[in-house]
Amino acid sequence: MNGNPDRMTIRRPGNAVRSPQGAGTAPFWVEMLLEGSADGENTAMRASLEPGTITSWHTHPRGQLLYVLAGKGLAQRDGAHVEELRTGDAVWFAAGEKHWHGAAADSPFSYVSIQAAEAGRFVDWLEPVEAPR
Ligand code: MN
Repeated sequence: MNGNPDRMTIRRPGNAVRSPQGAGTAPFWVEMLLEGSADGENTAMRASLEPGTITSWHTHPRGQLLYVLAGKGLAQRDGAHVEELRTGDAVWFAAGEKHWHGAAADSPFSYVSIQAAEAGRFVDWLEPVEAPR
């Protein structure tokens, strides 16, 4: 991670990378929009998932705001019901809250997420989701 730019910066689409191994039931595309590294500095990304692809369980050290760009998605926090997500929905996951998110079985799903860094990390991956629906 490089830290946030010190001046106005435009990131154009076209720098998608594959999600890390174990992050989801299948690889998905991630475009980094902000690569904060200092504690409290924001990271942000646009993610694009194929129908039925969902993340593993995970947490964010300082929480995460997820904004749905397109498609139909699903999200669940540990111990609660699976929730449907639609275009325009905004979801906040609290710091350390175990959760997953992903595409519904019948729809691609894309979102922008913003999550602050702590100790150089913005996500901690856990185990795969079992029988999400
Ligand atoms: Mn998350």
